[in-house]
Amino acid sequence: MSVITRFAPSPTGMLHIGGARTALFNLLYAKHHRGRFLLRIEDTDLKRSTPEAVQAILDGLDWLGITPDDPPIFQAARAERHIQCAEEMIARGKAFRCYATPEELQARRDAGDAARKAAKADGISEEDRARQLAVANEKLAAYRSPWRDPATAPRDKAPYTVRLRAPDAGEVAIADKVQGTVTVDASEIDDLILLRADGTPTYMLAVVVDDHDMGVTHIIRGDDHLRNALRQVPIYQAMGWPVPEFAHIPLIHGPDGAKLSKRHGALGTLAYRDLGYLPEAVCNYLMRLGWSHGDEEIFSMDEAAAVFGLDAIGKAPSRIDFDKLSAINGHYIRTIDESRLYDALMVELAKTGEVRPEAASNIAKALPLMRDRGDTLPELAGAFSFLLAARPLEMNKKARKALRAEGLDRLALVRDHVSKIDRWAENELKLTLQAICNETALSMGQIGPPLRAALTGGLPAPDIDQVMAWLGREETIARIEDQIPTDV
Ligand code: GLU
Repeated sequence: MSVITRFAPSPTGMLHIGGARTALFNLLYAKHHRGRFLLRIEDTDLKRSTPEAVQAILDGLDWLGITPDDPPIFQAARAERHIQCAEEMIARGKAFRCYATPEELQARRDAGDAARKAAKADGISEEDRARQLAVANEKLAAYRSPWRDPATAPRDKAPYTVRLRAPDAGEVAIADKVQGTVTVDASEIDDLILLRADGTPTYMLAVVVDDHDMGVTHIIRGDDHLRNALRQVPIYQAMGWPVPEFAHIPLIHGPDGAKLSKRHGALGTLAYRDLGYLPEAVCNYLMRLGWSHGDEEIFSMDEAAAVFGLDAIGKAPSRIDFDKLSAINGHYIRTIDESRLYDALMVELAKTGEVRPEAASNIAKALPLMRDRGDTLPELAGAFSFLLAARPLEMNKKARKALRAEGLDRLALVRDHVSKIDRWAENELKLTLQAICNETALSMGQIGPPLRAALTGGLPAPDIDQVMAWLGREETIARIEDQIPTDV
């Protein structure tokens, strides 16, 4: 049997970071088994599903490199098939038309609530209390419709829903690959609605029919769907279909252990792109969130797929750890292809303003030596700001101090020497600075600070001869001259 997995998001907003992890686990599981990974857009909630949200899901998956093996399937377009299955279940006696009105159902619940309240009242006899409790239990129990009995006469010309005839007795069980065996007594399962009174299929029906028709063998999804699985199993059985394997993975929590929410940080997948993380890093981080393989932290998609298994998914919710994400991002910043990093850095730099072509070429020169200067793209971009700064540079306090009085004289001296250099290269520049020290009584500690101040404005930067080499002759001399009053 070849493995088929799927990711089935509802397009009602961004691609949640937890959803991205679910998609990733499905992809890795399918890849591990050389199976297929499919995408199904569950757009049946027409009021809340938007084309923008569909696009956000596609963009989020695309950014992470989570590519389905087929074009996406749209659930709403399959309504006729869902209806056909419901009718088949009616024909087989597994489902029925239920004429209970919403008012009647509400009245039942209200009666249950009232009886429960009455049972708690002071001063009633034990007998009355028991009677009220029995009523409450009956009214609040899983709904079993009178029309499940074929002998109950239909209501003429009345609207109806189509309900599944829930199993009469026994247990419904799933052997969940993460949660273990989970069972529920059949009496806890209601005659769930398959088709609403307006004829539209419910989510429960659509999910089962689609998963079956897509040939899904393994359903890997958030454990908030565990209870749904127990209600979906009877639908498979009613259709006479094999029940797929389930793996319900614990949700992602924030660093404080509470369910992940906005106050913990970004929720949408593309927000991580906008925060300056690399997709390789986010992918790597997500796969390790709830799944482990020894102590290993760094996995490419293929490496993870080679060893991925559901048995190594933890039962406890995993906590998102932004420091760890940054550390993993730092690993990828240091190791990905240089031209990829350059492109990503340029996108980051463009967020704060236009990058002049000269600055862009200086960055390309500096990148190999500077790429370890940040774990995230904004950090790295910050490390390059001395190259990007537009003339005349803004001087910070320390730089201004270095450019006082004799500092300026020394700067002028350096200008005079370096402007005569034939070959503008790091080594020549270094030798020239040394020559100045040899010819004058000055030390590097005296000529370095004003020069560094003029060239960087006081921003952090590597060796000064290296900085001059990257800036080039023209920009170096111009930055120096910007600081020297014309009469010096
Ligand atoms: N559409 C559901 C959701 O976004 C998932 C359904 C499923 O995975 O079975 O929560």
